[in-house]
Amino acid sequence: MKRKKPKKNPDIHPKAGREQSAGGCLFIVSAPSGTGKSTLCQAARERFPDLVYSISFTTRSPRAGEKDGVDYFFISPSEFEARIGRGDWVEWAKVHGHYYGTSADFLNQQLSAGRRVLLDIDVAGAKQILNRFPESVTIFIMPPSLDALRRRLETRGTDDAESIEKRLVNAEKEIAEKDFYRHVIVNDRLDAAIDAFCDIIARYPPA
Ligand code: 5GP
Repeated sequence: MKRKKPKKNPDIHPKAGREQSAGGCLFIVSAPSGTGKSTLCQAARERFPDLVYSISFTTRSPRAGEKDGVDYFFISPSEFEARIGRGDWVEWAKVHGHYYGTSADFLNQQLSAGRRVLLDIDVAGAKQILNRFPESVTIFIMPPSLDALRRRLETRGTDDAESIEKRLVNAEKEIAEKDFYRHVIVNDRLDAAIDAFCDIIARYPPA
């Protein structure tokens, strides 16, 4: 039976069908930029050494201190688009004007090996993954408020004013979709948020 292609990314998984994660477990984490999601992911990776972090591909420029192959694989828009054509992405999205995508090969290999995989992706990407891997554990991280988020983005100092405004507009849209996630954590106090995040992961132990 032919399935309808998703509206947003018509190039994604043309042979789409629901897939089982072959014994592995997928954790999908989304949050508005500046909510502390990277810190939570880092803490979870330290607490659960078996957890595999999927390094995304992006066309945005590296920020100060970011390394290719560690934080992201930084590639050009033309390479990203060529890979869309080849069906290399299990999901991809344009976020804040740049492409971001997850390697289908990497994800399939890890899940076939029965590993627990952590994906830090946006809401559009989360929906695509859930369509394909409906058993994924979805977690949304909320800022305490939009004002607190603005202050964080400004003090972080990694984004210019225009980029901060884009991120705040996007944050409102993403927060409006939080109920789509199985778990929602408000990152008000970092230590409590780390515990809540790790408690969820601990509920799905390695196979
Ligand atoms: P940043 O540029 O601040 O690192 O990330 C911006 C946004 O892109 C975040 O919401 C992050 O979760 C999302 N993102 C990172 N990697 C991917 C990916 O592979 N796919 C999708 N759909 N979003 C991603």
